[in-house]
Amino acid sequence: MWQSVFGILIQTIKMKKPFWILLMFALLININCGTTESGSNDNEVEKTVSIVEKFGKLSVSGNKIVDQNGEPVVLRGMSLFWSQIKGKYYNYDCVKWLRDDWKCTIVRAAMGIEQADGLDGYLVNPQTEYDKVITVIDAAIDLGIYVIVDWHDHHAHNNKEEAIEFFKRIATKYGDKPNVIYEIYNEPMQISWKDDVKPYSEEVIKAIREIDHDNLIIVGTTTWSQDVDIASNDPLNFNNLVYSLHFYASSHKQDLRDKAVAALNNGVALFVSEFGTTEYTGDGFIDEAEVEAWFKFMEANKISWCNWSIGDKDESSAALKPGANAKGVWKDSDITKSGMILKNKIYEFNKELFN
Ligand code: MG
Repeated sequence: MWQSVFGILIQTIKMKKPFWILLMFALLININCGTTESGSNDNEVEKTVSIVEKFGKLSVSGNKIVDQNGEPVVLRGMSLFWSQIKGKYYNYDCVKWLRDDWKCTIVRAAMGIEQADGLDGYLVNPQTEYDKVITVIDAAIDLGIYVIVDWHDHHAHNNKEEAIEFFKRIATKYGDKPNVIYEIYNEPMQISWKDDVKPYSEEVIKAIREIDHDNLIIVGTTTWSQDVDIASNDPLNFNNLVYSLHFYASSHKQDLRDKAVAALNNGVALFVSEFGTTEYTGDGFIDEAEVEAWFKFMEANKISWCNWSIGDKDESSAALKPGANAKGVWKDSDITKSGMILKNKIYEFNKELFN
């Protein structure tokens, strides 16, 4: 084709007609651009598939979370700190940074309900805290990762009506989005599974299921979400439920892993929606050998997890040093010892999922 184009061009030059010369050059440039454009269109067909496009709608099969093809899936990411305390990290850029730089496939929005560190939560400022959570959910949907909507409360059974109203609102708005996972009671304390947590959970789950029939629901267990064995002996009768197992590696060790094994053997699925590398207070020393033992345990049993936490509070479980940028863009020098353990682990486990 090029030979004929040049042939015509040379002929027009010989004919000494400048208008035709200009026209031929314009044609040449156009042909060239057209070729480039169709090339880039071909590349666009191979665009990156997001994590949620890859795994799709999650469900529970036996004691595992499975993807849209029925294959076990493990989600690994970070929990944000209490929304009323470190709400500055509840923004699109921060979630995007956690996906792109840390390779998180999930984030957890921990909506503070009662007062914490002297700051009121959702019960006093419902719209303020709701808006923060919505921002994180919308970001996760846009970025194609999963998001836990966590009722971050130690006394949720006393705040049941508010929880039901909130989760009905979330289910109505997002029940058709595979990204969204409900967590209805962060950490019940030393109360009764049978008389307190189970009846609360039944009512909240029933309200969600009237609107959203299938998205995963994480159910809190007693003793700060450690008694998964007790819950598994008297489970709830709904589809796609997982029970939360929380640990702080320097305090909770093989004894707690034994409780988790008992629950798995009873046939329920577990989700470590929150864990720390530190002591149970969220502060103190980091037991790196125990952290490693827990990672091995979770991988072996295909248990998904979120680490506590993305926040810059001056305590050892915080992933960020005081003053770290609210919008991500963190250098390693902005990240704490615990944060670096998690950043490296998440990257190591998840990086291939983004190919
Ligand atoms: Mg649904």
